[in-house]
Amino acid sequence: MSQPANLSPSAYLKDHASAGRGVFASTLIPPGTEILNVTDPLICIPDDAHLDTCCHYCMAEATDEASSVNQAYRPPVKLSYCLGCRVVKYCSKACQTTDWKQKSHKYECVIYKAQYPRVLPVTARAILRMAKQFLSETPGSNIVGGIGALKAHAEGFVKVGGDRWEMANLTAKGAAEFSKVSKQVSFEPEFLRDMYCKLLINSATVVTQTFDPIGLCLAYQGAMFNHSCDPNAIMMFDGRQLSIRSLKEIPKDAEITISYIDNLSTRKERKEDLKSRYFFDCACSLCSSDVQPLESSRCPKCKGSIPSNTTTCPNCNQITPDDELSAAIALAASTTTQRTKRNADKSPTTTLKSLQSLYSANLPPTFPPIPQLHQDLATSYIDEANWKTAFLHLLTLYVKVYPAVYATPYHPVRVVRTFTLAMVLIQIAVDAPEGLGENIDFTKVLYGLLTEVCGNVEKSHGGQSTFAEVVRRKMEEVKVDIGIDSNWEADKWMGKGLRAIPDLEGEVAKIIKIVDEFLETLKSN
Ligand SMILES: [Zn+2]
Ligand SMILES: [Zn+2]
Ligand SMILES: [Zn+2]
Ligand SMILES: [Zn+2]
Repeated sequence: MSQPANLSPSAYLKDHASAGRGVFASTLIPPGTEILNVTDPLICIPDDAHLDTCCHYCMAEATDEASSVNQAYRPPVKLSYCLGCRVVKYCSKACQTTDWKQKSHKYECVIYKAQYPRVLPVTARAILRMAKQFLSETPGSNIVGGIGALKAHAEGFVKVGGDRWEMANLTAKGAAEFSKVSKQVSFEPEFLRDMYCKLLINSATVVTQTFDPIGLCLAYQGAMFNHSCDPNAIMMFDGRQLSIRSLKEIPKDAEITISYIDNLSTRKERKEDLKSRYFFDCACSLCSSDVQPLESSRCPKCKGSIPSNTTTCPNCNQITPDDELSAAIALAASTTTQRTKRNADKSPTTTLKSLQSLYSANLPPTFPPIPQLHQDLATSYIDEANWKTAFLHLLTLYVKVYPAVYATPYHPVRVVRTFTLAMVLIQIAVDAPEGLGENIDFTKVLYGLLTEVCGNVEKSHGGQSTFAEVVRRKMEEVKVDIGIDSNWEADKWMGKGLRAIPDLEGEVAKIIKIVDEFLETLKSN
C-alpha cells in the first residue's frame, strides 16, 4: 500500500485484522512527536456558531473586544463578509481567493445567497462542498485521499435508523433542493445522502489551540487513524492545519490511535457513543479492562479510592453497601443523560446543583461527569468575570482530576487548562479577593504554573505552534510585571510542574487545603 503524503516516516499504513486499515509506528516514537501534518484538509469550515467569527478559509478567529483569557496576544484579526453571499467571512484577500477558486466557494456563493438570510447548517454546507470536490476526482479511481475512497457505512445508518437516518435524508434532500439554483451543477438527494454518511463517519471537530470547538474538518489522512479510549496520540488544529501528535512513547509496530469521542465518560457511555456514531463495538485495551480508573468510587470511611470492580476498600477493608454505590453511580449516569439531551438546561445554577448532589452521594472528583461539570462552571464564571469562583473550579481540576485523567504533564488538554488556571490567577492576584487562602504567595504559584506550561508546550503543541508563541509572550510579560525574586532560582523550576518544585511545597499544601475545603462546601450544600 502506498504511503500517503503528510504521514511522518515514523508511521505506516497497514491493513488491520479487525478494523479495516490502521496506522502503525515504523520506529519507536517518543512522546510529543508530530506524526501527521496536513496543511490543507479536504474540507475545513466553521460550524454554525462560528461563521461570523472565523475566517472561512484559514479558520483564524476575529479578535473580539472582550479578549478571552486564552487568546491574549494573537495579532489582531478583522474579518470581512464575502460580498456575494454575506454569509461567510475572510481575514484576507488571499484567503478569499483560495476559498473561491480551490475550495468551491465560487460554487456555493450563489446557493448561500439564494437562501439568505437563512444560513445552511454546517453539515449541508459540508456535503455540497464534498459533492463538488468529488466531481473533480477521476471517476472510479478510488484514490487514497479521494472522497470516493472514504467509507460511508450507509448500512450502519439504516440499521440505527431513527433520528440519525432521518437527519441524513432531510439534510440531503434540503441540500439537493438548494443546489438547484446553481448554473454549474445540482445534485440528487441520494448522492448527497452518501456524502452525508461519509462526512459523519470520517470528519473531525475543528478545535482551537485551546480545544474550543469551532468547525468541521474532513481529511482522509486523519480518518486513517483508528480509535482507542486510551489513545497514544491526539488530533489537534492550528487554524485549518491538522496534526496528530503522540501522547506517550509508542513502540515500533504498535498501532497509533486517537480518540473519536469525549474520554471523560464511563465505559458504558463511551461504548454507546461509539456504537451509535461510528457503528462499532469498542474493544480497546481500556474497554476490555476490568478496572475503569475514572469509575473508582470513594471509601466513605478512609476517603481512599475503591476500584470500579469491587465494593471493598483496598485500604481499610470497609465494604460499601452495594445499593448505596449503585445509587450514586445511577445518579451520575442520569446527570450525564440529562445534559446530553437536546435543549438541556446547562445554566450555572443547574450545573452547580448537579455537582453538589454528586458530591453529596460521595463520588470522587474524577467520576464522570464531575470533571465536565467543573469545566463548564469554570467557563461560565470566566465569562462573568467571576474569577474567584472560576479559580476554585479550575484549581479542583488541576489538583484532583488532571493527574488522574491525563497521565502525562504534557498532555495538550492538561497544558491548555493549566495555562487557563494561570491566566485566571493573574486576575485574582490583582483583586486579591477575601477568603482565598490569604497567606498564599500568588506570585510564586503563578510563576510555578507558567514554568509548568512553558516546559511542556514543546511536547504538547510543538515549539512553532501559535499556542507556544502565546505562552512564551505571556511568560515574558509576567516576568516584567510581577518581577522575579532572584532567590527563587526559578529557571530550575522549568517544566517541573507545581508539585515537583521543592520551593513551592508550602504553597502547594495551602492550595490542596483550599480545594479540600471547597469540596466540603459543595458536599454540604
Ligand atoms: Zn483567513
Ligand atoms: Zn460568498
Ligand atoms: Zn474503548
Ligand atoms: Zn477505606
